Amino acid sequence: MTYGLISDIHANLEALDAVLAELSGVDRFVCLGDIVGYGADPGACVDKVRSLPNLTCVAGNHDLAAVGRYDLGWFNSLARDAIQWTSGQLSAEQKSFLASLPLSAHVEQAVAVHGSLPDEMAYITTPQEAQVCFDAMPGELALIGHTHVAEYYRVRRSTRFPEQISLRSGGEIAFEPEHRYIVNPGAIGQPRDGNPAASFGLWEVEVGTLETRRVGYDVERQQEKMQAADLPEHLIARLSVGH
Ligand code: ZN
Repeated sequence: MTYGLISDIHANLEALDAVLAELSGVDRFVCLGDIVGYGADPGACVDKVRSLPNLTCVAGNHDLAAVGRYDLGWFNSLARDAIQWTSGQLSAEQKSFLASLPLSAHVEQAVAVHGSLPDEMAYITTPQEAQVCFDAMPGELALIGHTHVAEYYRVRRSTRFPEQISLRSGGEIAFEPEHRYIVNPGAIGQPRDGNPAASFGLWEVEVGTLETRRVGYDVERQQEKMQAADLPEHLIARLSVGH
């Protein structure tokens, strides 16, 4: 069984299309949340993700905020502006899809969640934060998004000292039975790990590997659309640098 892992699309249709072209032979998908927010194509991205075959999708904070289910007080002013604009772009049907997304889901032996466990919207950026999630995880693998950084954490079953390993330029994880794992395949629509290319994952369940890859896309076209929609300048500029 092969799964395409997608996360943090953030309404960036050019980046999503580039990733889906790379995953064209895949017929199972896991989306780790934040389909919308920041970018210029929220409706089109929701429709594309919804139509993926055998999709497991969890809610991100931006998805919930765009449908009035997450307090805007948690966001900075630029994100808030983008969320309010996004909300006005979505149809009732697109909103009800976002509102229906669960906070976590089980796929094969993994748990999928936007941020962490037990708090689904917490950020994992350090081994200490990863350990909180390891303690709350039911099994040996968690798939996460939220930080827009492609990386993974692994911890030996007998210890509580996770290692943090970058996937900034892509890479392959070969799962070992003596370890537990938390994997973030990185962001499609707004990478923040210093690599502006869209990031995604390919999970081969029976083989026991998970590979992340980067693919370039037409950044300027998305930036022009964001400009035309009068979205905040900082959000537009950061796509060029991936930070
Ligand atoms: Zn996000």
